[in-house]
Amino acid sequence: MRQFSRRKFNSYVSRLTISALPFLSKIQSSKASLPIRKGIKVVVVGGGWSGLSIAKYLMRENAELNVTLIERRKTFFSLPLSNLWLGGLLPVSKLNYRFEDAAKLGKYLYFNAEVTELDRAKQRIETDKGWIDYDILVLAPGVEYDYASIGVNDAKTKAYLNENFPAGFVSINEQQTILEQLERFKSGLFVLTAPQGIYRCAASPYERACLIAGFFKRKNIKGKVVLIDPRDKPAVNDEGFLSAFDELYGDTIEYLNSTMVEGVDPHRNVIKTDFDEIKFDGGAIYPRTRAARIIEKFGLHQAKNKQFEADIDPFNYNFRDDNQIYIAGDCRPMPFSKSASVAISEGRHIAKVITARLQGKSVQWVTPESICYSMVNSIPEEAILSKSAYEFDQNTQHWRFAKRSKSYNIRSSKLATETYTWASSHFQNMFGPKPFD
Ligand SMILES: Cc1cc2nc3c(=O)[nH]c(=O)nc-3n(C[C@H](O)[C@H](O)[C@H](O)COP(=O)(O)OP(=O)(O)OC[C@H]3O[C@@H](n4cnc5c(N)ncnc54)[C@H](O)[C@@H]3O)c2cc1C
Repeated sequence: MRQFSRRKFNSYVSRLTISALPFLSKIQSSKASLPIRKGIKVVVVGGGWSGLSIAKYLMRENAELNVTLIERRKTFFSLPLSNLWLGGLLPVSKLNYRFEDAAKLGKYLYFNAEVTELDRAKQRIETDKGWIDYDILVLAPGVEYDYASIGVNDAKTKAYLNENFPAGFVSINEQQTILEQLERFKSGLFVLTAPQGIYRCAASPYERACLIAGFFKRKNIKGKVVLIDPRDKPAVNDEGFLSAFDELYGDTIEYLNSTMVEGVDPHRNVIKTDFDEIKFDGGAIYPRTRAARIIEKFGLHQAKNKQFEADIDPFNYNFRDDNQIYIAGDCRPMPFSKSASVAISEGRHIAKVITARLQGKSVQWVTPESICYSMVNSIPEEAILSKSAYEFDQNTQHWRFAKRSKSYNIRSSKLATETYTWASSHFQNMFGPKPFD
């Protein structure tokens, strides 16, 4: 493993630049117009929980770094708690925050732009607003959907499906469409799917089923939620979710376990499973997730990984062939929960790795922590909880849950209150205001 003292770092950079000369760069634009700042240039791409945490903790570790966060969205929208918005328990204002506030609090620069190209040899990235040079690049672009995994291959059908029955696991627009469907919903089947593989927020499809069923009951809507899952039981908190389905919702939730989605016709509102065809009246259809396409486009993915996740050193997060590029968040290949809490705790570790290496040092790996509350009841509000930590088994060369991982399956108002406390502390840490006090 190479290590960076500032001197070694500079000579390493110039060697790379010289060796790059024969290649034609894909970057054609002019330099982005950004304030001139001193210090080693760390560029973080993606202002989700991962990128925001890394930018913040980098500046906390070393205030002399010149950190720029590039994010294409204009406003931050929190996916955690967004099921509560769909279920009518929260206004959207509690989920929207300003990147400018995060940057001011964290003392880094926020640049609202979309990253389009990477030139590793020149250490330069291109955005739709010009190029930027980096000394260290951190990519945290999150995930996208793989519609082919549910038998939808044609581009027009994918777009129609995403526009009309979006999964609601990436953007606020998708959540807005689901909410509008629910507001119009009179009766019939509302279909949800849980994807194969490790997907973003393992508990979320089951929590969403509970909250939508709760909404139907409160509004006296003659609707039924059908949740299709390839697993034989919920991916997390199985006891807690199955008892909530049974005891709180009875016939309003039908859980179709061990069922594979093989195709969707969004024009006829039909889902084909390995058992039969289901005609639905509304839905949020969640295909397998894959790392955001820029990871594949930039040649940074693992060759045989079905979800195109990043090819990184799992303990230090640098791309295997390049210690100046780090990749984090939900596009990581390790089988950790794809959750905000993992992204935040891992972000703290990555900031330490980068700052230590810049001083020619190294740091010990620490496990990320996943803390995931699921609001299974709306009146009264009651939640369950799953907490996980991880360890690497040197004998099998596989990751496993650390012994202290624990599921809390007895729903309670105490855990519902903790849900808001958890979210509030992260919003406050990242953006300043405390939304739930
Ligand atoms: C409904 C729902 C409920 C959830 N509940 C919880 C919960 O209770 N607890 C929990 O811990 N987690 C929860 N999660 C999971 C959590 O939201 C994700 O794990 C987390 O957002 C991952 O963070 P990330 O930064 O990797 O990705 P993202 O949050 O997706 O951020 C990626 C960012 O990169 C930006 N980006 C991508 N490409 C580019 C580009 N080319 N140029 C510029 N910017 C780019 C995107 O605009 C985006 O802002 C939930 C998720 C959902 C969908």
